[in-house]
Amino acid sequence: MTFATLGLIEPLLRALETLGYQTPTPVQAQAIPAVLAGRDLMAAAQTGTGKTAGFALPLLQLLTMEGPKVAANSARALILCPTRELAEQVHASVAEYAQNLPLTTYAVYGGVSINPQMMKLRKGVDILVATPGRLIDLFRQNALKLNQLQTLVLDEADRMLDLGFSEELANIYRMLPKKRQTLLFSATFSDEIRTLAGQMLNDPLSIEVSPRNVAANTVKQWVVPVDKKRKAELFVHLMRKGRWKQVLVFAKTRNGVDALVDKLQGLGINADGIHGDKPQATRQRALDRFKSSDVQILVATDVAARGLDIEDLPLVVNFDLPIVAEDYIHRIGRTGRAGNTGEAISLVCADEVNMLSAIEMLTRQTLTRKMEPDFEPEHRVPDTDASGQVVKKPKKPKKPKASGGGGGKRNLGKWVESGDLAPAEPSIKPVRKVPVFNTGPRKKK
Ligand code: AMP
Repeated sequence: MTFATLGLIEPLLRALETLGYQTPTPVQAQAIPAVLAGRDLMAAAQTGTGKTAGFALPLLQLLTMEGPKVAANSARALILCPTRELAEQVHASVAEYAQNLPLTTYAVYGGVSINPQMMKLRKGVDILVATPGRLIDLFRQNALKLNQLQTLVLDEADRMLDLGFSEELANIYRMLPKKRQTLLFSATFSDEIRTLAGQMLNDPLSIEVSPRNVAANTVKQWVVPVDKKRKAELFVHLMRKGRWKQVLVFAKTRNGVDALVDKLQGLGINADGIHGDKPQATRQRALDRFKSSDVQILVATDVAARGLDIEDLPLVVNFDLPIVAEDYIHRIGRTGRAGNTGEAISLVCADEVNMLSAIEMLTRQTLTRKMEPDFEPEHRVPDTDASGQVVKKPKKPKKPKASGGGGGKRNLGKWVESGDLAPAEPSIKPVRKVPVFNTGPRKKK
């Protein structure tokens, strides 16, 4: 199958050729014809599957072929994303795909001044990528009207709900024209997402990239048990031993990010950090410098790193395990993308045993443990397995095995479908409920 056989127009095919995309990914093969046919879509796919092109390519084609010229302070398509970084990333991809088309694109998000965004919107933009809060601000200040909207894309819908945007989504829903095409992408499908889909979508086509199974088989994962107070020391030790070049490190809290970055910088290691307390410009600069390999170690909280696409990232380290088990899947999904292989190492202390157990249950696997000589924990991490059982009584410590680095094989070029990162059931339920929108039945298109 080629992009041409999916019915894409020549300027898009040329852009894809420039980008070196040869074969449509599974989500693209399913989404492109459906969106071109005008269908609403409910797609189980997450970042790394090629979903951005899956919705952006047909969307760009429809905007080029159909509909009026964009009016002042209007947008013809709106792509909602959970974080600023993701909005920037999606916008960059859309702009690349649109390089040969007479369409305008723009991204708006909070944390930066609203005035330039208002100025930019004056002439209207064909495709607007936005985070929910800033979109509402712009709408309320009359900088944006949505009556010309043809298409709405909800990208990473589950993350939007996890981040507490359900109220904002309900508000945005009220601002939308009834007649529109809506595409919803989500890595996981909780009851809340299904409710949201039921309200926002009209007779949607459901697509799932591949069957739900265990975590990515393109990512080699293991755990190094360690005492909490020695985690930073172990990290530096492993880094030097494995000669790590580019590592994305996840810490649980903002303070945790700052403390690790300080420690690494104090040792002369080229590290930087991103978290929600930092100004947007600083976050973006750190990310850009990491992507261009000017920064070797990027330490991040989950929120700041959500959905980031970093080309050829070989290694993710969980300095702390995430509190929500599903975040583990998102984190390790930063590596092993687009057919490459990657590694994910988790430094786990005894306090985190329940989180480890929840992750193993969710991903239906028992993570391999590798003791690092001289770092065997005094507080043993109790045994766990995929059944969710934690063996409280510690067994006698085994003789430490040498830890292995295991270089990741590269598989570049043609798209290789990565192992599905969707979690196995039962999934962890988001804490917040989706409000019920009492707007009556949607009009048929
Ligand atoms: P996404 O899931 O949209 O974040 O895409 C993940 C990565 O795959 C991005 O770096 C895309 O540029 C790349 N990609 C998307 N579709 C294709 C394709 N058909 N062939 C090769 N690379 C692709």
